[in-house]
Amino acid sequence: MTTPSMFGNDPAEAPTAGTRFAEVAVNAGQPARQPFTYSIPDGLEVAAGQAVFVPFGPRILQGVVMALADATPLQAVRPISAVADPAAVLDGPHIALARWMSDEYLAPLWDCVACCLPSGYGQKAVTMVSPVDIPPLLPAYPKDQRILQYIAANGRVSIEALREAVGQVSLTLLDRLQRDGHLTVAQGLARPAGRPRMERRVALGAAPEAALAQADTLAERNAKSVEARLLRHLAAHPDVTLTETRELGATPGHLRKLEAGGFLREYEQQLERDPLADYRFEHRPPPVLSADQAAAFEAIWAHPGTTLLHGVTGSGKTEVYLELVRRTLEGGRAAIVLVPEIALTPQAIRRYGERFGETLTVFHSQLSMGELFDQWYRVQRGDARVIVGSRSAIFAPVPNLGLVVLDEEHEWSYKQVDPQPRYHARDAAERLCGLTGARLVLGSATPDVVTYHRSEVGAIKRVELLQRLSPGTDGSISEGALPAVTIVDMREELRGGNRSIFSQPLRRAVHAALRQGEQSILFVNRRGSARFVLCRDCGYLPVCPSCEVALSVDVQSPVSTMLVCHHCGRSRRLEDRCPKCDGRRYRPFGVGTQRVEQEARAYFPGARVARWDSDVSGQKGSHERMVQSLESGEIDILVGTQMLAKGLDLPEMTVVGVVDADVGLSLPDYHSHERTFQLLSQVAGRAGRREKPGYVFIQTYEPEAGPIVAAATHEYRAFYDEEIAHRRRAGYPPFNRLVRLIFRHARQEHALEEAARVANELRIGRDAAGRAEPDVLGPTPAYIPRIRGEYRYQVLLRGRNPSRLLELVRLGEHWHVEIDPPSLI
Ligand code: ADP
Ligand code: ZN
Repeated sequence: MTTPSMFGNDPAEAPTAGTRFAEVAVNAGQPARQPFTYSIPDGLEVAAGQAVFVPFGPRILQGVVMALADATPLQAVRPISAVADPAAVLDGPHIALARWMSDEYLAPLWDCVACCLPSGYGQKAVTMVSPVDIPPLLPAYPKDQRILQYIAANGRVSIEALREAVGQVSLTLLDRLQRDGHLTVAQGLARPAGRPRMERRVALGAAPEAALAQADTLAERNAKSVEARLLRHLAAHPDVTLTETRELGATPGHLRKLEAGGFLREYEQQLERDPLADYRFEHRPPPVLSADQAAAFEAIWAHPGTTLLHGVTGSGKTEVYLELVRRTLEGGRAAIVLVPEIALTPQAIRRYGERFGETLTVFHSQLSMGELFDQWYRVQRGDARVIVGSRSAIFAPVPNLGLVVLDEEHEWSYKQVDPQPRYHARDAAERLCGLTGARLVLGSATPDVVTYHRSEVGAIKRVELLQRLSPGTDGSISEGALPAVTIVDMREELRGGNRSIFSQPLRRAVHAALRQGEQSILFVNRRGSARFVLCRDCGYLPVCPSCEVALSVDVQSPVSTMLVCHHCGRSRRLEDRCPKCDGRRYRPFGVGTQRVEQEARAYFPGARVARWDSDVSGQKGSHERMVQSLESGEIDILVGTQMLAKGLDLPEMTVVGVVDADVGLSLPDYHSHERTFQLLSQVAGRAGRREKPGYVFIQTYEPEAGPIVAAATHEYRAFYDEEIAHRRRAGYPPFNRLVRLIFRHARQEHALEEAARVANELRIGRDAAGRAEPDVLGPTPAYIPRIRGEYRYQVLLRGRNPSRLLELVRLGEHWHVEIDPPSLI
């Protein structure tokens, strides 16, 4: 059968003089990183940023025009089939942003474009069947008749809908009906998954007096006239939903008659699905900024580029952001505020809502596709000018961007892991701000070492707020104190005969808090527990001499007697006794939240203990519920992991105990010290945020470890100086960039062979090109060597621009490529 097309699906032809061309990113389900070239047929208006339909092989696919051109080196090109929507879906900066992402993260161009489109925008090509205006003779067969009746009643329908209604419908049958002139068959597009929600409404079309007079006339003839009832209702409520008229008994027939008489009019209105519909914001005037805050604001405002706002927890950074947003709006421009997903709590949203109610919207992963769709258009129209959201909100189609704030800029959740593109929101934000001339503010109490280094070398500006504020209940502020942190040496505890997981000082503090009706947190660092070895007597931790990361117990070796470096693969035997002090308590280390919960119940009888970890935090709204029980004082002791560290701001929270501070330090990842410092600082920051002082206990076998000491003394700078020296020595970012390649396969030998093949080819390619870098490390088993039955091997590239080397090899589909991996485990 020939499929006549509602679009042209024309073959490629040699371009003629005067033809113009479009570079189109095509939704082809292929990993293409380049746009495809199409000619623009005469008479078709095509502009960059428009969504179009293009022929692609035998199919018609959706695409977005990335650029226009007057010439092409190609011998033959096919023409664009149709323009999907004359209004552009991407503006210039977003086109450039998508292309940059594709290049930077080696990601398919369409996937990068799709990030910037309304959610659910993509459409699939389907076969559509339409009625013709005047069907000729009645068809002979009953099946034909059913088909024609169905399309006469429903208009243009998809072949699937037709089959559902009348049963089996073959293409040959449709072809015959088309040849006989009963219907037309065409290739069209499925309704997109994301689309506006419409509401049908009925409005009074005449003066109320006229409607009432007509109602009287109708009622005289028939006392029960539905039309009369409807007219009287409309005279009082001149604009109602169609559903409401149904409830009054009106049928489509009634409405048609009244519409013909000019008494009413039916119309459709778009309903806005609003993720903030449940919020009622009370408008609050901004507080007067403290002198430090005002100075920080002025310094940031005076600098048009990127600024790092380094401010300790509770120093008033958010108030500075709010003021920046306010001034940006005043200047007629819009603002995007990114926060880590986990920090996107109702409390956070409320703070922005109270200041910018009507013009605020939120973007995050828990919104429905419909909500995201509507908010996308609301932003594009310029109706929402403050966008608060997680990572992907950076792609909101803001027309006149003036400001982007990335709060907690060190958070690694800003890096997308899957699906492609594996972008970092901070880098995407910086690129977008460069393209739009917007300011970028990166805020953190514990900045990413890479960001801080950039502020040291002058690539970005740095502004500091190093004094905590203490807001009084009356709205006043005074200087607040950071909590007092005690490092507890667990080796001493052991020597003193305490074999419990809680040290004496921590136990005393929790008891005291319980007596005063205050709350405590017991923090457990669960990531990577029980995979590293630590000497309980001297604190010795085995480390790879060339990578400076902890060695882990090799879970692949049958009796776990080997230690292995997950960066370079170096391995050695696990000794029976500590190589440093010859002690015998040299064993794998780690404790879980459940065990801590049990012990807490045993040591603090009568206390109300709750546990918060990934086992219980899965359900939607569970975070809010947990915060509520804490706020209402139903919990005395909270046992939990990483997730606790963020956002909790509780007046009665006075004691924080970090049960196992060493765990994070030992992860075989060059970020391990940085993460430990950040985490300990964040957790410590939960205590003593209001008038009551806070007490923090960090339990460790390595009390001299740099990140632990720096977190205890609140000295970011001390941490940074030590860390940057280590990074420089070992050649980690910011001095180099990393690329991680992971290959996974069900057969271990095959996985290893393929990983070795690629590593070798990369080395050969590098040497042949006469380059000294990047280093090609591996293959080594990944930190988690086997996931869902598949073995994982990794190869690391380390150099100035390591991704360029990847142009030399072909990576099959089982390869996972990560540029600037946020974690190596
Ligand atoms: P950060 O974002 O640095 O953690 P916040 O902006 O949340 O700090 O400020 C900490 C607390 O101090 C909040 O409760 C905030 O409402 C209050 N606060 C900040 N600035 C002021 C101010 N200028 N006047 C009154 N209260 C303030
Ligand atoms: Zn190593």
